[in-house]
Amino acid sequence: MYSIRLFKIMGIPIELHITFILFLIIIVAFSIIYDSIFWAILFILLFVSVVLHELGHSYVAKKYGVRIEKILLLPIGGVAMMDKIPKEGELKIGIAGPLVSFAIGISLLVISRFFDVNVDGYPLLYTLSLLNLILGGFNLIPAFPMDGGRILRAILSKKYGYLKSTKIAVNIGKILALIMLLLGLLSMNVMLILVSLFVYFGAEQEGKVVEVDEVFKNIKAKDIMTPNPICVSPDMSIEEFLDFMLKHKYFGYPVVEDGKLVGCIGINNIHKKDGIVRDYMEDPVLVDEDEDIKEVLKKMSHVDRVFVVKNGKLEGIISKTDILRAMNILELKEELDSQLN
Ligand SMILES: [Zn+2]
Repeated sequence: MYSIRLFKIMGIPIELHITFILFLIIIVAFSIIYDSIFWAILFILLFVSVVLHELGHSYVAKKYGVRIEKILLLPIGGVAMMDKIPKEGELKIGIAGPLVSFAIGISLLVISRFFDVNVDGYPLLYTLSLLNLILGGFNLIPAFPMDGGRILRAILSKKYGYLKSTKIAVNIGKILALIMLLLGLLSMNVMLILVSLFVYFGAEQEGKVVEVDEVFKNIKAKDIMTPNPICVSPDMSIEEFLDFMLKHKYFGYPVVEDGKLVGCIGINNIHKKDGIVRDYMEDPVLVDEDEDIKEVLKKMSHVDRVFVVKNGKLEGIISKTDILRAMNILELKEELDSQLN
């Protein structure tokens, strides 16, 4: 989303995030202020360096059977979007990117001792070597969403388990982001403020994705559904239905006629007191009892509850509250399990 596809390398699409335009503006401003094309050239070479860094991650990741969806370039770095992180490969995948940056940085530094390309009096290779060393170094900070966060998680997860290690790396990332934000505000450094926001939201997103993935791993719809749901008849009057809801205190119910699920009705469907349930009910969103929670969550993005069926027969309901509660319970279970190790 919000990105422009440039080209493909090693079968991986390279995309520019829309905020990259901001970086372009800064570079153009630099070029005008300092009246030199040096900054434009440096910008393009830095962009190449970031792509090489991400290709480093991607190359190792592919060896672990990970599919790289794309490499997304942001103004403050790149992200290789993988379909999953294989846990045994994470350490090597995480280190590969900074290693590429350090290799480029050190090589250019050595070369620039003997020979450099001067553009308007600026040493191009030397400056590029420094940028690569910074790129490698910044990414080794042991906090999400930087590579160092992945490396830290890979090391910690041997002892604390994957979910807890992720939370530790996420929290370090958030604390670091808040310190950067404070420093950025105090020094009125716009770049630092932007980086701090990138780190904060990057860390938070990483944590959420892992939490949902990890907690609901191997969990099916039937595992968390509320079984034997209370049903209503399509001929029930709305007045009766309101009393019925008050008694049972659920916000949504399956509508069943002759043993068949014909619709669903909830608190949000009722706008008037007259009529019967049939006038207000809507089509239920169905999931199979063996469906993964990930798929269930996708289907729940636009409804409050889904109906679990087995061979077409209604077996249970999953509401958003069920998901949240199941998540809390499963997290506790995972935490207690990891204490045993
Ligand atoms: Zn990296």
